[in-house]
Amino acid sequence: MKSRGKRLFQALTVRGYSGKMKGRIVIDREMCKGCEYCMITCPLGIIMIEENFNKKGFMPAFCVDPEKCTGCSMCARMCPEIAIEVYRENNGE
Ligand code: SF4
Ligand code: SF4
Repeated sequence: MKSRGKRLFQALTVRGYSGKMKGRIVIDREMCKGCEYCMITCPLGIIMIEENFNKKGFMPAFCVDPEKCTGCSMCARMCPEIAIEVYRENNGE
């Protein structure tokens, strides 16, 4: 039997890939330490690392193609700094 967390994760992922869910992320660039976990984790590859430094001297992550974001939250789950907020809206269904 699957755990609730695993079922939720799969449901979000499937809905995300099917294009039925729209999302948006906000990365706090001053909290970000540029570890790249979010960049590596995003299934759509829409997170990149800036070439500029934040106040702490790190190159923070940013979303290069916000329109594609499904709101799957995988990036936020991976972020050790809790620097990513995810917003979702359902299109239809
Ligand atoms: S929520 Fe994060 S991991 Fe998911 S698609 Fe959007 S940017 Fe990528
Ligand atoms: S996982 Fe968090 S700390 Fe690491 S690059 Fe992404 S936003 Fe920055």
